[in-house]
Amino acid sequence: MESLNRVEISRSALIHNFQVCRQLAGDAAILPLVKADGYGHGMIDCARIFASQGAAAFGVAEAIEGVRLREAGITQPILVLVGVVPQTLPAIVDARLTPVVTDATILPALSRLAGASGSELGLHLKVDAGMGRQGTLPADFRDLVRAVLATPHLRLDGVMAHFPLADDRQSDNSAEVLRTFQQTTAMLADFNCGKCCLHLANSGGLFYVAGARLDMVRPGIALYGYYPDGAAGTATASPPRLRPAMRYVTRIIQVRRVPKGSGLGYCHLFTTARPSTLAVLPVGYANGYLRNLTGRAEVLIGGRRAPVVGRISMNLALVDVTDLPEPQVGDEVVLLGRQGQGEIGADEIAGWMETISYEVLCLFGQLNARVLVD
Ligand SMILES: *Cc1c(COP(=O)(O)O)cnc(C)c1O
Repeated sequence: MESLNRVEISRSALIHNFQVCRQLAGDAAILPLVKADGYGHGMIDCARIFASQGAAAFGVAEAIEGVRLREAGITQPILVLVGVVPQTLPAIVDARLTPVVTDATILPALSRLAGASGSELGLHLKVDAGMGRQGTLPADFRDLVRAVLATPHLRLDGVMAHFPLADDRQSDNSAEVLRTFQQTTAMLADFNCGKCCLHLANSGGLFYVAGARLDMVRPGIALYGYYPDGAAGTATASPPRLRPAMRYVTRIIQVRRVPKGSGLGYCHLFTTARPSTLAVLPVGYANGYLRNLTGRAEVLIGGRRAPVVGRISMNLALVDVTDLPEPQVGDEVVLLGRQGQGEIGADEIAGWMETISYEVLCLFGQLNARVLVD
């Protein structure tokens, strides 16, 4: 039994986007970000697809996601970006995850567990090179490296930082962050610590910041088919362009004809100005189709646009289909993606929702049944 709403994920689009990133990355390795259930696209399916294309490692937020990837058979290094705290260390060591360490306090416990497991554990360090969120300050980096190298059973595999403004092509900030990161990590030459992977670029860094590729890049949104600067990025992208991988569809469950002057839905936010034909959709904010899309959103039916009217409720929305030819119960309605000549992208929906494509994809993908197609 399936829901009337479904999110389709295109395998071929994910592969295409990986190859676009591959070309831009040059010799740098690729670490796909699959946190937040692969930005709503399905963490395990996405990781398997990207692994088949040559992903070098994966990035998740919490250790629990890394454990699930291991259980699904992913063998590449998995970086745990947040939540490397005492209670997650046993799982990190057991599942051979790679913790991203931001200060020395965690090192003794990590060392004890790694020692007890009988193997050395690789870790990456995070430098705050300008993000201002997490990480060791550049001034403290030398001491942190020294602490790692002095701790048994631990190995320094990489050093990372994160860009706060890589999607803003006008800003000088990214060049400054890159410079800070390179100056900070140059200290590694003073230590005899072997090969250490340096990585900084998210999608914005990969697309827009010269010299930011370093040893590895960490694209997220680009792999799922969107530019980090939204519609502006799409408008100016040079080929080969990214292909959105998610489509979100529902079905018409009822077609109603109502007279002029009918108040529709909660609060009668919309009153018909003419005799109208309405399509009822089994979708609402419980499915990620947020309430603030009310009065703004459009959908595709038969490849043509029609406006959502009245308050979007928990599981229902109404579409004014008066101007469409003969919509029928059971017809496919596209909330996100292509249908015929029509297309509604996550950036357009993000504009209606006053957010960014990332949040739209997470909401739709995580709150609906998903299928992998093509
Ligand atoms: C999420 C994340 C990324 C990916 O960012 P995009 O803008 O989606 O490419 C890269 N690095 C880190 C540390 C992240 O948390």
